[in-house]
Amino acid sequence: MALLVQKFGGTSVGEPDRIRAVADHVARTVRHGDQVVVVVSAMGKETDGLLRLAADVSSTLPGREMDMLITAGERKAMALMCMALHDRGVPADSFTGSQAGFLTDTTHQNAKILAVRPDRIRAALDAGRVPVVGGSQGVSTENDVTFLGRGGSDTTAVALAHALAADACELYTDVTGVFTTDPRLVPTARRMAKVSFDELLEMTATGCPKPAMRSVEYARTHGVRLHVRSAFTWQEGTWVDEEDPDMEQAIISAVTHDTSEAKMTISGVPDQPGVAARVFRELADLEVNVDMIVQNVSDKGVTDISFTVPHSDLDRAVAAGETIAAEIGALGVTSDPSIARISVIGAGMRSNPGVAATMFETLAACGVNIQMISTSSIRVSCVVAEEEAEEAVIALHESFGLSEA
Ligand code: ASP
Ligand code: MG
Repeated sequence: MALLVQKFGGTSVGEPDRIRAVADHVARTVRHGDQVVVVVSAMGKETDGLLRLAADVSSTLPGREMDMLITAGERKAMALMCMALHDRGVPADSFTGSQAGFLTDTTHQNAKILAVRPDRIRAALDAGRVPVVGGSQGVSTENDVTFLGRGGSDTTAVALAHALAADACELYTDVTGVFTTDPRLVPTARRMAKVSFDELLEMTATGCPKPAMRSVEYARTHGVRLHVRSAFTWQEGTWVDEEDPDMEQAIISAVTHDTSEAKMTISGVPDQPGVAARVFRELADLEVNVDMIVQNVSDKGVTDISFTVPHSDLDRAVAAGETIAAEIGALGVTSDPSIARISVIGAGMRSNPGVAATMFETLAACGVNIQMISTSSIRVSCVVAEEEAEEAVIALHESFGLSEA
């Protein structure tokens, strides 16, 4: 008998017949002899709908009320799921995040988990019942309802799996697993049978949309085995686990791309101690999320600093950058929203030279110009023009031998 946490995303429970199909699957798992804890997201695009509704009514969007509103989506889904389970003869009880023991800080709309005390969930399991938990929610240290943020249901599931010492955390979604690259872009993309926490973390940080990066971090920290799989075909998906020390790692496991960022350059920056600190402190104070920073070799006492920021932060970042540039005597600020970051990821590159060379050669053969480069121990990323991203991803997927045979 295994203890499984099964999390179902928005599309998996988007319609009444989807809720019935998921209930059938949970019932099958229970009849098979396993214990199940279900975590649900809000149905379909309901969270987007609730956010729109709030924006229609209010211009101030008070955090406490936003969280009360948004968590209603998951509350609806969990009650309906329990009803469908009852119909199938499976005793089930729904629990809000608060009832399930998720204690959080007070950061509304993006609350951090402080502790998980799933006493009621354990009691329900002991009584032979299936607990169904609303994803992405908790209760704050001030006793208010909190929302963990977009994609937070994955984190709820992983945290619950850890707190209950579950055997696995199954993340059910509308794709059949984690792919070697985006299958919408590259038809020869392959589903990975397994991937390590480190690799998946790099992938989710560079454009792989699922599972939510924060949940992968949590799973890696606590060693929670994940199984990313389909709620439509129910076939075996992708296992996420520690690297197998006995196995040689693939040099490259995946190619990702991310078009959500823009590039910004501050040119003619005086090359003196404290200048970069000042620029990035001011951006940080404006909550601008800076990534991929590159500084040139200085020439005649000045240098250029380029970095990427999310599109949504670009206007603020440019405005702040112009003020700072004037203050520090830099030449000026330029920006380009039409960029893409292309990354190749693989644990095996730690011990195999030549990955960067192969990547640059592949891009050169397509005539793609590289604007910025950054690396980690298991990733090489290049910023290229957005309109060249698709061609670059297809070529890299091919040249690193990831395409289906
Ligand atoms: N329903 C929430 C969202 O769409 C939480 C989740 O699905 O993880 O962000
Ligand atoms: Mg979701």
